[in-house]
Amino acid sequence: MKITDVKVEVIHIPMKKPFRIAFAVQDHSVNVLVKVMTDEGIYGIGEAAPFEPVTGENSATVLEVLKLFKQGLIGMDPMNIEGIHLMMDRLISGNTSAKAAIDIALYDLKGKVMNQPLYKVLGGYRDQIVTDMTIGIDKPELMAQEAKERVERDGFRILKVKAGINPADDIRALTLIREAVGPDIRLRVDANQGYTVNDAVRVLKEFEKIGVDAVEQCLPWWDMDGSKILRQKVDMQIMLDESIHSPIDAARACKMDAADILNIKLMKCGGLYPAEKINAIAEANHVNCMVGCMLETKVAIAAGVSLVAAKSNITEADCDSFMYAVDPEMGMPGGFTIEGGVYTLSQKPGLGLDLDF
Ligand SMILES: [Mg+2]
Repeated sequence: MKITDVKVEVIHIPMKKPFRIAFAVQDHSVNVLVKVMTDEGIYGIGEAAPFEPVTGENSATVLEVLKLFKQGLIGMDPMNIEGIHLMMDRLISGNTSAKAAIDIALYDLKGKVMNQPLYKVLGGYRDQIVTDMTIGIDKPELMAQEAKERVERDGFRILKVKAGINPADDIRALTLIREAVGPDIRLRVDANQGYTVNDAVRVLKEFEKIGVDAVEQCLPWWDMDGSKILRQKVDMQIMLDESIHSPIDAARACKMDAADILNIKLMKCGGLYPAEKINAIAEANHVNCMVGCMLETKVAIAAGVSLVAAKSNITEADCDSFMYAVDPEMGMPGGFTIEGGVYTLSQKPGLGLDLDF
């Protein structure tokens, strides 16, 4: 089998409301879908969801880089995923969401060739997983109101609360959210690099009292030393996100004892192939993983939840972003169903999405 063409399509994704995190506000995303075509008529679909503050990419750079990859891909065997990653890495460093788009399409194609759903191609551990729902930064009272709705109206049992702008507001928001949702809902916090070590120690001591399970990326992405210090000072799971792009970052974090959980995102690491390596490194070091997401459509979300379903060491999922879109389905039937935060994966081959362009 040989790759004959790579088609791209830019998609605009307006969101229901602006989403605020410590270092950015987003009210839409411009993503790029790819279709990798072969001489046997089978094709795979992938997606890039570039986010400049984290991967340094936007839709324009993704389109340029995909032009470069297309030249390398035509004539290659789509099952040679190792070879294709080497080719992409030799052509250009970084640009991980463009690489993820190609990678996801190759795995969709591989599932179709094997006639197996992607989660079985990757490991096949279970066909249901539970995601959290994220609450963006707002006035603490409004965050508590949204948290209550997400639990009572939508059935979510795990909430991830964005923080990291003002420690006093963060403590107030988490206090009000705990009061609003009761003691049985799991809470985690994402500070998106917003704290200093001193802030983090003080705030996390308060979060301990509120019953927060884990706190993600308290410190700037480069400060793994600080993260190690934090782990020694608080009794809470410390998660790294922006610090972990590649398998090499994962190895370094594990070697330094800098994290209890690593947040894998396909857009940060370059797709499922490097994501599997990050998980294997973490597992060998007794570190669990979560799979998170950028503002993705069902294409990249289906890839992410398939990875979670495939692996026993990936114990958490933060795969909620497509639900913030004005139109979450976006004309992409299949892939999975979701109810109350529980994803049930499709048994159809590959991503299981009924999508062509
Ligand atoms: Mg995060």
